[in-house]
Amino acid sequence: MKRAGLFGGTFNPVHYGHLRVAIEVMEGFGLDQVHFIPAANPPHKGKDGLAEDTDRFEMLSLAIGGEPGFSISDVEMKRPGRSYTIDTVRQLGRHIPASTDCFLIIGRDAFLEIETWKNFGDLFEAIPFIVMSRPDDMAATRDSAFSGIGAYIRKTVSSGYVFEKKENRFAHETLKPVYLFPVTTLDISATAIRRMVSQGRSIRYLVPEPVASYIHEKGLYA
Ligand code: ATP
Repeated sequence: MKRAGLFGGTFNPVHYGHLRVAIEVMEGFGLDQVHFIPAANPPHKGKDGLAEDTDRFEMLSLAIGGEPGFSISDVEMKRPGRSYTIDTVRQLGRHIPASTDCFLIIGRDAFLEIETWKNFGDLFEAIPFIVMSRPDDMAATRDSAFSGIGAYIRKTVSSGYVFEKKENRFAHETLKPVYLFPVTTLDISATAIRRMVSQGRSIRYLVPEPVASYIHEKGLYA
């Protein structure tokens, strides 16, 4: 059985925070592949300050080149309308062979807003989640970094979710599990990077060098 991770986001631009956690999740879960899925039209962010699809896709290509376990999917960029994750999961489900186990990789902050996602309940029927800790989790320890997830998931999704310590996951009799995964939390955000570019500050060592060059050459975020 192969294992693949689906990692969605705006990637505006992709940075070392994204890349580092993707590697750690890939290793931690024995994934064969992580598919980065840039959103064309993110429902929660709007298009303000969003670089063109082609530019975000190109920056991802520059960033992941050389890592054989990483690939980019253009499903959301090719699909008209808003980029809803449930549509992406269903669409990919029709293309990815049944012999591949898929996981949805998501930051803890994004997970804690899942009730605002279209048909979020269906997602828990469709695909297991891997929830990563983020820099703003405040706490360094394994348990406290994820405090709040259990209460949230039981209140918003189903009271039937039970924490299994050995697997570090919330399991359910009928719904898919939600795995918790602590990652190296690099305090990097795309918002901060865009601001730095607009202020003429250096973004070196926050994004791969070819991505920084691309941003400067194309005059993005200026
Ligand atoms: P923005 O600042 O524009 O909101 P972002 O980098 O926080 O950008 P996305 O590009 O949409 O947001 O992030 C895609 C996914 O990566 C989300 O699940 C988010 O939680 C996660 N993520 C973003 N930055 C980090 C980071 N530094 N460490 C771990 N995960 C991250």
